Amino acid sequence: MGDCIFCKLANGEIPTEMVYEDDFVAAFKDLNPQAPVHILVVPKKHYNNILDVENGDDIIAKIYSAINVIAKKENIDKSGFRVITNCGEDAGQTVMHMHFHIIAGRKLGDKIV
Ligand code: 5GP
Ligand code: ZN
Repeated sequence: MGDCIFCKLANGEIPTEMVYEDDFVAAFKDLNPQAPVHILVVPKKHYNNILDVENGDDIIAKIYSAINVIAKKENIDKSGFRVITNCGEDAGQTVMHMHFHIIAGRKLGDKIV
């Protein structure tokens, strides 16, 4: 995807400090953190959001396996964390490259569910 910022970050076209990386998934810190720990976990391949994930595609499993590793690496596995993916306009998705927010490092309020 030509000018997708998360494609460029995830694939090293724009250098950034990676929190985690494997062949399919990359994770880096959010530019505008909403908590002491705010990490974005993204597929290296472009998907607009979860609506682009087809039946039989295991990218979501790969992303959650990465989240498991990241949680332990960042020492938030004991204290807890929240994972959020915004999909579409009403959810407030602003970057149209699928991403999962890991939020942690303080008591998280404002629960919707
Ligand atoms: P959304 O609102 O789409 O769920 O989340 C987009 C997130 O991407 C926001 O939390 C925003 O701060 C973050 N973001 C936007 N542009 C960049 C960027 O260039 N680099 C990084 N690291 N995060 C970004
Ligand atoms: Zn992209």
